[in-house]
Amino acid sequence: MEQIGIFGGSFNPPHIGHIQAAEYAAAELGLSRVLLIPALEPPHKQLPPGTPTPAQRLEMLHLAVAGHPKLEVSDVELTREGTSYTCDTLRLLRQQHPQAEFTLLLGSDMFQIVDQWKNAEEILQNTRLAVFCRGGKRERELIGQMEQKLLSRGSSVAVLKNPITEISSTQMRRLLAFGCGEEFLPHGVGAYIRGNGLYDTNANWKNLPMEQLEQVVVRLLHPGRVRHVLGCRDTCVELARRWGADEQDAARAGLLHDITKALDGPLQLTLCAAYGKILDDFSRKYPKTLHALTGSLVAERIFGENERVVSAICSHTTGKANMNTLEKIVYVADYMEPNRDFPGVERLRSLAFSDLTAALKLGLEMTLEHLKNQGCEVSPQSAQALDCLK
Ligand code: FE
Ligand code: FE
Repeated sequence: MEQIGIFGGSFNPPHIGHIQAAEYAAAELGLSRVLLIPALEPPHKQLPPGTPTPAQRLEMLHLAVAGHPKLEVSDVELTREGTSYTCDTLRLLRQQHPQAEFTLLLGSDMFQIVDQWKNAEEILQNTRLAVFCRGGKRERELIGQMEQKLLSRGSSVAVLKNPITEISSTQMRRLLAFGCGEEFLPHGVGAYIRGNGLYDTNANWKNLPMEQLEQVVVRLLHPGRVRHVLGCRDTCVELARRWGADEQDAARAGLLHDITKALDGPLQLTLCAAYGKILDDFSRKYPKTLHALTGSLVAERIFGENERVVSAICSHTTGKANMNTLEKIVYVADYMEPNRDFPGVERLRSLAFSDLTAALKLGLEMTLEHLKNQGCEVSPQSAQALDCLK
């Protein structure tokens, strides 16, 4: 009996992680082919604004599977109207391939809720499941729990320990907006994206008016960080007014200060490499602190911000020696914006309006204390910043 894998998703855009996972599943499970099925409207998430048309997503997927004889693209969900439920897709595929057995390939997030899907019973009784396990301990536990639950109900489940390329479509879209990331795209897909100006690759974001800048920033941030960033912008403006700094600069620096924060450590390094930035040992060791540097690079090259804004973003996590007023403002505002809550924040807030330099010093001292308690190293810039305030 023919064994067919079914791999659904938004493929927005398709990246090498998708292709590697599909190839791995085919080899590991002895599938004669894997159908990659882009969803018209995924049931569990909304496609973000700016998503390419269904035809463009289909085209990208065709380019992505070229040279992979076991991988095929199916448009069954794109040619059907409304929400793309897997139960409907499976019914249709069974009619088309009455002699085949199907294995549904799932990411771990979807696998964990598979028993809540529409017509889950029907899916689980007739289809083998295979879940891609990314390997974190907590994730393995959750997968294990669902696996037990499904096995006890008579379903067939395989856990795939595929080597994973640490990239998601969401991160891919950010990298593309920042002008890099093509190494994560299958051959041909990058050129197609650029050729059609998809994912903001042709956007001109230089010197955007404030309102438009805010819209773009909100789109690129992790949704959980939006409140912090807007709070930081407002606080930057208040402090600029109090201390006579340029309010426009302050607002723009506040809005952009965490623009690359959603990228994890390895992707921070990817961005630095793409921008030709040579890193010191500390940054290589602690790539998470790099978002201040990468944020400043993106502010300069993608958003065309002036030197003052760029430099204030660059020093917002570590501080540096001899900070100017705007740099102090962004550092302190980031620390005390209205969504921040920690012991000492009120003292920092009142100090910020009576003595900005003292507030900066307090912020640096609290950070150093925190890092020491965590057993982490202090960045040389923070040490220098504090030294010159003593
Ligand atoms: Fe930050
Ligand atoms: Fe921040």
